[in-house]
Amino acid sequence: MDRPIIIAGPCSAESHEQLQQTVAQLAKMAEVAMIRAGVWKPRTRPGGFEGLGEPALRWMQELQSEYHIPFCCEVARPEHVELCTRYGIRHVWIGARTTANPFMVEELCEALRGSGMQVMVKNPMNPDVRLWIGAIERLQQCGITVGAAIHRGFSMYDNRGYRNDPLWEVPIELHRRLPDLPLLCDPSHIAGSADLVPTVARAAMQLGFDGLIVEVHPHPESALTDPQQQLTPDALSKLLASLPQPSSTSQPTEPALDMLRDKIDSIDHELIQLLGNRMAVSKQIADVKRQAGMSVYQPIRWEAVLTDRLQQAKCLGLDQAFTKEILEKIHGESVRVQMDNTSDS
Ligand code: PEP
Ligand code: MN
Repeated sequence: MDRPIIIAGPCSAESHEQLQQTVAQLAKMAEVAMIRAGVWKPRTRPGGFEGLGEPALRWMQELQSEYHIPFCCEVARPEHVELCTRYGIRHVWIGARTTANPFMVEELCEALRGSGMQVMVKNPMNPDVRLWIGAIERLQQCGITVGAAIHRGFSMYDNRGYRNDPLWEVPIELHRRLPDLPLLCDPSHIAGSADLVPTVARAAMQLGFDGLIVEVHPHPESALTDPQQQLTPDALSKLLASLPQPSSTSQPTEPALDMLRDKIDSIDHELIQLLGNRMAVSKQIADVKRQAGMSVYQPIRWEAVLTDRLQQAKCLGLDQAFTKEILEKIHGESVRVQMDNTSDS
């Protein structure tokens, strides 16, 4: 990758003045390739600001030609596509709530067919890489150019301090399956607060993302939507200066790295062997429990196992949440294996 692709602009287009002030500053930053501005806003609860619609598109068209920089916005309904076409907006994205709904994606595919628009696809609200890829494939099958996938995090029961949990393994898996599709990160909707945005943005660049889409407002505190997470143009400029140099994902030939990778390989093989051994014991346990008339799931034993292993992990400096997640996965698989072996009888 040469230079990161940077898209920046307000969560919502609110007034001509707000848009003009933002664009005037962003257009001066060499890194900024496109301006974002929400025209129709999906709101969690009714009664909030839902976007200005057509008047906003009129300003965007005017500013696009005045500052020679393209605009993009979210489209969620066929009428949105039609209006964007009318006002010369050639770049759009599909939001998280739409990606999650194949019926809506299909309606948009029909509206976008033959439009020549470039479409970016945000991840669905839930961490389902197949649903994300499904939306991309539906568009591509209609001959629509998908310009990028956008990672905006996932709405989880426990978001671990973020507005939307980044769960980096999901965009990494998307990239593994679609290596040629540019991958952007939306640190604003992941972070949910302006002070966390730079950390998330830098993490994305370290992971090899191709660029960022960042919410920027001239006066974030008085923004009509997402006031906590929007950066001022100055803060964006500082953030861009602090980004790590684009990292290479090509295979390096560092001898020290090769040695360390050999170690990782053999540790992984050991881990898999140990898991195999553990599951074999689980099967034996299934027999014993069946003969003793005991149920497969034993809550008291599981609680004791969890407490003991978490204590060991703590001594090794391993993250507790990470360890718990792994143990839960292993225990879940062990229960499944035991159920399979029990139901054979
Ligand atoms: C947005 O970009 O302003 C937006 C609503 O995003 P998302 O679809 O990621 O929630
Ligand atoms: Mn927003």
